[in-house]
Amino acid sequence: KPQIVWLRRDLRMKDQPALHAAAQEGPVIPVYILDEERPGDRKIGGAHRWWLHHSLESLGKSFGKRRAQIVLRRGESVQILQKLVKETGAAAIHANHHYEPWHKEAEEDLHDALKDTDCELVLHHGNYLMPPGTATTGSGDPYKIYTPFKKAMRDLFPPREELPEPETISQPSSLPDSDDLDEWELLPTKPDWAGGMRDFWTVGEDAAHERLDWWADEVGDYDEGRNLPSKDITSQMSPHLHWGEISPVTIWHRLKDKRSDGWKTYEEELIWRDYAQNVIYQFPKYPEESYRDYDERTLWRNPNRSDNIQSDLECWQKGQTGYPIVDAGMRQLWQTGWMHNRVRMITASFLVKHLLIDWRHGERWFWDTLVDGDYASNGTNWQWVSGTGVDSNIFSRIMAPLSQSEKFDAAGYIREYVPELAELSDEQIHDPDDDCRPEDYPAKMIGHKEARERALERYRKSKD
Ligand code: FAD
Repeated sequence: KPQIVWLRRDLRMKDQPALHAAAQEGPVIPVYILDEERPGDRKIGGAHRWWLHHSLESLGKSFGKRRAQIVLRRGESVQILQKLVKETGAAAIHANHHYEPWHKEAEEDLHDALKDTDCELVLHHGNYLMPPGTATTGSGDPYKIYTPFKKAMRDLFPPREELPEPETISQPSSLPDSDDLDEWELLPTKPDWAGGMRDFWTVGEDAAHERLDWWADEVGDYDEGRNLPSKDITSQMSPHLHWGEISPVTIWHRLKDKRSDGWKTYEEELIWRDYAQNVIYQFPKYPEESYRDYDERTLWRNPNRSDNIQSDLECWQKGQTGYPIVDAGMRQLWQTGWMHNRVRMITASFLVKHLLIDWRHGERWFWDTLVDGDYASNGTNWQWVSGTGVDSNIFSRIMAPLSQSEKFDAAGYIREYVPELAELSDEQIHDPDDDCRPEDYPAKMIGHKEARERALERYRKSKD
């Protein structure tokens, strides 16, 4: 009997537990549903749409090479799956667990909807090193703090074995109708703002594996190089991981025999990704609600007061703050849909502490503009930077963007993304004074010392 594979953020053939299980049971019907109802205001943003189009196109080709097809549908996922079950007589729907609240809710509703049918929902663990909730404290609770979580994960390693991709995929003789991907209009046209993303990325499972081949040779330099935005010494695997074009289990097994410090640090970053899921597994609304008890009415500049937050927010979004490292980061994000991790920390800290704008404004902007925008990782990192989270940097630790820029040697990065500063010397470029600042580059929105004092003052008041 046919087996439906409900694809979501697991757009791959290799190490794909749901597909692997389904292919062993019977003919497979892979289905991707563009559901813009369930996520509510967490609908995928522009950068996500661009990536999704190319990822589905690439996966469609991989199925095509095995003379198989994906069924594409648009609408409310549970209703569509119920109809497909009736139409095809499927015995099971296989899917990999997802932990975003709207995905979990859909899984629960689907489970209920199938109760009185001959079709069952089979959920697999696919996208993380270990299922959230596996690593627990002595009292059996999931961890809230990263460092003991990391230790517990390492004690539990190795992760599960990698699954082979199905050698052949059989399908029923007739498949349900499929939408035409182009008609979903996921790609921007007027204006076509995706040129920078096309230059920067190759989307899809094959590209993710090529990237991993390259990374296997580079990971030894990660420990030293990962803080240097001018150098290309991070894996840039995040969108491939977010969309499930490659699994972290595949990456782990591929790199595990590397004996370098670089690999140990890289493994920690993969564990951060699992940690973020572990946080939303416990606190599903974490990316929406501050965890710590500050008086947020006094901490952030309130939009209803006279302070002009909207224009400050726009300066930050457009990379016009007058702080070259911040502007380079925000422009890299806009052009490529990605930003270097060190610069994500600097730009986020600038919004929250220099501009005292509520972290949720930044989280939303990243969500809309990142190709790797991830409910758990984005929310967890924003709360970490803003000092409001369960395991957080303290609020009073305020990053100094200018010295960070010098310390991590960001001159080349600034030249690339802020071309109006390209002619400045290495000494001038981090903090151009009025004598050398070109006319088309703005003065600083606020001085660092003033911003720091203002933030500390607000922080003190909001704690009382
Ligand atoms: P590498 O340095 O090569 O790391 C390997 C992988 O580990 C990454 O691909 C990612 O999957 C994971 N990883 C690394 N650092 C972290 C981290 N701090 N938290 C969780 N996972 C991590 N990452 C996202 O994937 N999606 C987001 O929406 C996201 N938003 C962020 C927002 C802020 C404010 C900050 C400070 C960080 C955010 N990160 C996010 C984490 C990190 O910046 C990116 O994962 C990383 O820059 C991606 O580049 P890379 O693949 O080259 O990472």
